[in-house]
Amino acid sequence: MVKRVNHEIKGWILVKVLPLWFVNLMNLFGLPRFLSDFYAWDGHTLTEVIEDLQLLLAYSWGTYGTLPSRTSFAMQALIHYHYEEVASYPIGGSSEIPYRIIPVIERSGGQVFMKATVLKILTKEGRAMGVRVGHKESSAVNIYVPIVISDAGILNTFLDLLPEEVSKTSPLWPLIDTLKSGIGLHQRFTSTAEELGLRAENLWIFTDSSSEGLGKIFDGTTLDDVLYKSYPGFFIGCHSAKDPSWERRYPGRSTITVLTFAPYSWFAQWENLSVKKRGDEYNSLKNAIGQQIIDQIIHLYPHLQNAIEFFSVGTPITNQHYLNAKAGATYGLDHGFERFSPKMVSFLRPGNRDRRIISLRTGRDVAWVGVRSAFWRSLCQRNFED
Ligand SMILES: Cc1cc2nc3c(=O)[nH]c(=O)nc-3n(C[C@H](O)[C@H](O)[C@H](O)COP(=O)(O)OP(=O)(O)OC[C@H]3O[C@@H](n4cnc5c(N)ncnc54)[C@H](O)[C@@H]3O)c2cc1C
Repeated sequence: MVKRVNHEIKGWILVKVLPLWFVNLMNLFGLPRFLSDFYAWDGHTLTEVIEDLQLLLAYSWGTYGTLPSRTSFAMQALIHYHYEEVASYPIGGSSEIPYRIIPVIERSGGQVFMKATVLKILTKEGRAMGVRVGHKESSAVNIYVPIVISDAGILNTFLDLLPEEVSKTSPLWPLIDTLKSGIGLHQRFTSTAEELGLRAENLWIFTDSSSEGLGKIFDGTTLDDVLYKSYPGFFIGCHSAKDPSWERRYPGRSTITVLTFAPYSWFAQWENLSVKKRGDEYNSLKNAIGQQIIDQIIHLYPHLQNAIEFFSVGTPITNQHYLNAKAGATYGLDHGFERFSPKMVSFLRPGNRDRRIISLRTGRDVAWVGVRSAFWRSLCQRNFED
């Protein structure tokens, strides 16, 4: 933009030297703006342009869920670098990740159990000794092991799995009440991504140009606001367009996934009911929010309207059920700027500071949200064991 203004200085000169009657005529039709980029920002203040730039540089904060005014530049730099240099999509979808990892675990003598809820980490004198596994306390079994690696996140690990007196010895204890929760929407279409013009890209759609507009959802936005006005922002990704094996597996079909934020409190009254049995009121509410978002998408992409075959909506309590994400906070520990100080980075390491619990790991919360950061965690873990 700086270059465009400076290169187009001739537009400024032209308007000065041309006969005034001719310039007036040009102005009548707004031509100078089209003829020269010098006037492209006519009618916009510097502040407005800078705000647009702020949005462009910070829009993807939703990927880790902390407002630009509260996160570190380092976090945003990691995300930008990720998208520009290394982001990729697993052929066959995300289920390929466990599908490929499980044989590696088994080849090394490990076993993988499905639906094996850990009720608690067994400890003795502050050391992890094993895990208690089962759906109910009455039928649970104790498994004693030399090393416990907890990938359930800091919140589950410190609040539910460890005895409180052990958790409180961790320097992380004061951090654990900073949470955000999310809502997800899945739509299936009766045409291919190509036919619908859906591309292999991630889109963030906002209703206002402030870089923190979507954050309003946690700050005084009521259900009426989102049901009768616009949802302030959301993410759209099309897996069908990203996955080269999609068309072979699901010919003639495509899907999009829409993600956004929603306060847990909107759905908390149904948290203790079983999944798919939460009743009509819950279903109507989540579907009404979903429909509002669909209407906004159709407004932008009208050709999708007649192709929608099916949609389903998940809420923070869906996340809590399927991912055991406390209060629906799928991104785990808040990515506030304090998390990126040398002191906090050193705290958020596998194992706790004084190594009394020598073998406790805490998943995404050791690095930052994202599948890629798991590689960093493995690296930290290896160093720790060495
Ligand atoms: C909707 C959504 C979209 C995302 N998109 C992307 C993306 O495009 N790219 C990207 O890089 N990242 C993405 N992420 C983030 C990424 O999925 C996570 O950051 C990453 O999976 C975290 O890995 P983890 O191993 O720390 O935790 P998780 O993958 O959450 O694994 C923790 C596991 O622990 C289990 N668990 C919890 N409690 C217990 C218990 N008591 N007993 C037994 N098991 C338990 C959970 O069921 C879960 O399987 C997305 C996240 C979400 C929610």
